[in-house]
Amino acid sequence: MSLPSIAGLLIVAAGAVAADPAATQAWVGRQYHADPKTAASATVASVGGVRLARWSGDRAAAFSFIFDDGSTDHTAIVIPVLEANGLRGTFALVTGRVLPDTATAAAKAEKARQAEKDPAKAARIRVQPSWDDWRAAAVRGHELANHSISHPNFAKMTDEAVTAEIIGGLDGLRAGAGVTGVTFVGPGNQYGKNGLEVVRAHHLCWRIGGGIGYGIPPAGEEPATSAAKWTARLQALITHGGWTLSMIHAITEGYEPVGEQAFRLHIAQAAALGDRLWIAPAGEVARYDLAVRHARLAVESTAAQALRLRVEPGLDDPLLLVPLTVVVPTGAAAASATATRAGAALPCRIAGERLLVEVVPGASAVEIAWR
Ligand SMILES: [Zn+2]
Repeated sequence: MSLPSIAGLLIVAAGAVAADPAATQAWVGRQYHADPKTAASATVASVGGVRLARWSGDRAAAFSFIFDDGSTDHTAIVIPVLEANGLRGTFALVTGRVLPDTATAAAKAEKARQAEKDPAKAARIRVQPSWDDWRAAAVRGHELANHSISHPNFAKMTDEAVTAEIIGGLDGLRAGAGVTGVTFVGPGNQYGKNGLEVVRAHHLCWRIGGGIGYGIPPAGEEPATSAAKWTARLQALITHGGWTLSMIHAITEGYEPVGEQAFRLHIAQAAALGDRLWIAPAGEVARYDLAVRHARLAVESTAAQALRLRVEPGLDDPLLLVPLTVVVPTGAAAASATATRAGAALPCRIAGERLLVEVVPGASAVEIAWR
């Protein structure tokens, strides 16, 4: 084999494995996955008193809001409400049903016109989301998940047809929104006989069963009562630990609407749990989960109120180079603290008698000091 062709092969290999996580090839045959069902029992590295935090920010548990089917309610209500509370969600899209970019341009223009004249009337104009809306949501930190092309019943289909729906959903997310789907949500929570094998080969995580289902509140129930019930379930997660996913469909119109007022109240209450419950899109939690369970922690030197450590990646996957929280006990609450790597400051905050330092796994050492 000549040198140029060897070099060419190396470039292809690097492109598929390291340089371009969007390449479909990088996903085939993946051997590691994040699994909410076993998340509570997984352990992470610790050396002396220094440890990696099981969940970002050293929170007790993780929770991902998953909204199914990509409905008008999601762009009209869910996304603005989440963002007003500093939260981000996972939106499971049926890619074949998402409208092309320009499909609703006239309706959007009319809504914008009405917003100046009659905001109440404008608020009632419902515009079905198109790919440009979902692209914008992804840019702002929401996750777009694969919910198949056409939402069929996998249990009644051939393996070939199921595979086409799963791979086609990934292709649809890439073509429509320019994103790589890392989360799969089974249509009707079905995976068929062999669908899960295909999902595993191409995704980091998936939802089996409904997770926490929201459903329709009982007739006549006050919104505040519904919200309080839902919030109590999230509070229970903090005690239980681990990682839990949700299933929510419609808010006002469509399948199992939860009600707008109850939803707004609940999201504000959920956000208030944020110092103990990590609420983030499923793909983001999956990446942290995989990275932290495999990362290696080494404390190289300790001094009074200073230490030097390394956090090295355990898996060779660029998708898993995400900030991990390193927890450093300081005995008493520090007055000030710094963390640097190769001269650059890392995010570092004082939380009681701990420092929380955000470190992306890598080869170079991190210097931490406090007083
Ligand atoms: Zn669905």
